[in-house]
Amino acid sequence: MGSMENGHSTERRFGTLAVHAGAPHDPVTGAVIAPISLSTTYAQTSVGSPVGLYEYTRSSNPNRDNFETAVAALEHAKYALAYSSGSAATANILQSLARGSHVVSVSDVYGGTHRYFTKVAAAHGVQVTFSPTIELHVEELIRPGDTKLIWIETPSNPTLGLVDIKAVAEIAHRHGILVVVDNTFMSPYVQNPLVHGADIVVHSVTKYINGHSDVLMGVAAFNSDDLKERLSFLQNAIGAVPSPFDCWLAHRGLKTLHLRAREATKNATTVAKALEASSHVISVNYPGIDSHPHRKIALKQHRDGMGGGMLSFRIKGGQTAAHNFCKYIKVFTLAESLGGVESLCEVPSSMTHAGIPKDQREAAGVFDDLVRMSCGVEDAEDLLADVLQALEKADMSNGSA
Ligand SMILES: *Cc1c(COP(=O)(O)O)cnc(C)c1O
Repeated sequence: MGSMENGHSTERRFGTLAVHAGAPHDPVTGAVIAPISLSTTYAQTSVGSPVGLYEYTRSSNPNRDNFETAVAALEHAKYALAYSSGSAATANILQSLARGSHVVSVSDVYGGTHRYFTKVAAAHGVQVTFSPTIELHVEELIRPGDTKLIWIETPSNPTLGLVDIKAVAEIAHRHGILVVVDNTFMSPYVQNPLVHGADIVVHSVTKYINGHSDVLMGVAAFNSDDLKERLSFLQNAIGAVPSPFDCWLAHRGLKTLHLRAREATKNATTVAKALEASSHVISVNYPGIDSHPHRKIALKQHRDGMGGGMLSFRIKGGQTAAHNFCKYIKVFTLAESLGGVESLCEVPSSMTHAGIPKDQREAAGVFDDLVRMSCGVEDAEDLLADVLQALEKADMSNGSA
């Protein structure tokens, strides 16, 4: 989408790219929105000469190409590859490592990522070391010659801790190691890891990029031609690719990402400030407010210091109060997942993070009284009123008010 002005390419802004990147009108019919190309195979005029760019849909498909082009533009990447889920994107990257490779990862990665690292990667000879303080200790965890990848998730889930991508990337690159950042929680609108020195950015498209809680998909974006060759080979060989319909839906969702991310941030900021001021709350984790311990990183790494739509907080009254809060809240739906237009809440210790042993969980700040919220794009006043009434009732039914 770069255009030429006075011989210089002018970079379009985010909203313009979200709407137009990878969205050419149909050259034959003029259709402004691309049709969904459901055909699994494409005609050839003679052996080895396909009519157009396509041969077989697993290898490439017009809707997937359009979606990948759009994500690449939004993440300042040369290439993007789409997968059938965020987990499949992770698996493809780990599969690209040779037997004997070593990975250093932040400790509180997404549960499915942790499961893949510990239960699947190990089976094909890739070892992962986890660190709760990766910025401080990455250098000493590197095994010269063997460490191939550093895996960062920022903000972390569900405590919203931040990692300084640039600081880790500088150390990694001195040792010739690639840095991967899972950017699912921030979306490309709030944070662009490649700009801060990461080599690969991955997303669960299922969350903010699609944004409507109706598609399961993943994507990886990067600049290196070598990675393009290795990862697109595996994308085709493993075959964990998204359907044309899912690519079309996710591409439609992506066109409003900037609008949704701004509203979600506004709403989360309103809710976080109210929680912070409430006598029913022990503490709030939200990178968009000054009390956050890593606020400085947010200010340099996130667009305009935005905090995104995710927050978590500890409620007074223990697990019972946390469960009651989710029972009494009405506009927020009690459900796992995040990043959709509708607000959701959950109790990580009993739901998304129930599989982690209690001592490990609590060491990472995931106490039984922690509630995680994904703020959607409803009106801030309604979300605020909902949170305040639920806090009141949850604490009262606990007998402490
Ligand atoms: C959901 C999620 C994933 C996994 O993505 P799926 O699309 O569910 O496979 C990975 N990382 C983060 C941070 C997530 O929230």
